[in-house]
Amino acid sequence: MPTCKNCKQDWTWKQTVKSGFTMDIGMKCPHCDKKQYLTSKSRKKTGLSIIAIPFTLIIPVLFEISSIIAISIFIGTALIVFGINPILTDLSNEEEQLW
Ligand SMILES: [Zn+2]
Repeated sequence: MPTCKNCKQDWTWKQTVKSGFTMDIGMKCPHCDKKQYLTSKSRKKTGLSIIAIPFTLIIPVLFEISSIIAISIFIGTALIVFGINPILTDLSNEEEQLW
């Protein structure tokens, strides 16, 4: 789980997901209220994991499976990506350039 670089407190999974949902680049620390930013490395990792979700839509095209199974794979992957994202999250006090 990510650790706040300002107050050194760990964010819980729930707090990380909640912070991640604010469309803002900076995420407010639930402990000290200071803005925290995703490191460029962690932004790349979370970005790549999110890209995996639409790829599951190709599976039913390649293999002849029923739409119910295809939807289950899609939802399952989305849940896994959603679940691992806070683990991939790494925080920084300053906003980093992506490239
Ligand atoms: Zn903090």
